[in-house]
Amino acid sequence: MIVTRFAPSPTGLLHLGHAYSLAQGARAARDGQLKLRIDDLDPGRCRPEFVDGIMEDMDWLGVRFDGDVMVESQRVDAYEDALDSLRQRGLLYACFCTRKDIVAALNAPHGDPGAHYPGTCRGLPDHPVRREAEPHSWRLDGKKALEMAGGLPSWRDHDGTNHRGREEDIGDAILARKDAPAAYHLACVLDDAAQGVNLVTRSADLEGSTTIQRLLQILLDLPEPSYLHHRLVVDAGTGKRLSKRDEAPTLKAMRDKGVDGPALLEGLMDERLPLGFALADPT
Ligand code: GLU
Repeated sequence: MIVTRFAPSPTGLLHLGHAYSLAQGARAARDGQLKLRIDDLDPGRCRPEFVDGIMEDMDWLGVRFDGDVMVESQRVDAYEDALDSLRQRGLLYACFCTRKDIVAALNAPHGDPGAHYPGTCRGLPDHPVRREAEPHSWRLDGKKALEMAGGLPSWRDHDGTNHRGREEDIGDAILARKDAPAAYHLACVLDDAAQGVNLVTRSADLEGSTTIQRLLQILLDLPEPSYLHHRLVVDAGTGKRLSKRDEAPTLKAMRDKGVDGPALLEGLMDERLPLGFALADPT
């Protein structure tokens, strides 16, 4: 039985791209289960009114989710346990760099502007006093993690195709942020496992996250789901993807205009998009 999930972030109002993602999950789980998870770990950008907005959109679309709604900000203990386990195996290091430090180091004469992180704090002796005093994140030592996991992980598509992970997607990812108890990759793998998700449905622009998430699943001994990376919804005129930042037309605006939510969702399941929208070509 397929168990998949919709995991929106309450950082703005949802748009048609979110409804399409939800529809792809609902279609895959027609005979299975569809779960809801609120990805609210970014304290600077998440707002309670956007959680309310998500719930209103879901009511309007007529979606019924299985089980309880999972709220990531309430899962701190699970994240800390996993971080402890990785830390004990020497797979994490504290990172004190600011964004500015990182940009400067990557662009320095011997830096590698294409890298994710210049490795400044990797290999520093642990310094509990400094940690006490200074904000820091926790990074995964990507090289060590790959060694411990026995090499680059692969992942399986919903249609059964096997994909080799991409080394360039590993880097030394942040697993706990300076301002939040966990970062996206860690929360995502732990919560997918806790919700019994065996199919991760999300947009193709998140495919770059899959290699590192598979790596974390191996290191944390979590079950392996398969993946459905669906195409992005774009503006049919400009070809530009919809984004919360660009003030894409919101689901709220559609509901206020009296659009029939369940009919819209049903159409999106069959890739029928409202006028003015299209699906991007697969990458
Ligand atoms: N919260 C993410 C988003 O809204 C989705 C993460 C995921 O599906 O893994 O884009």
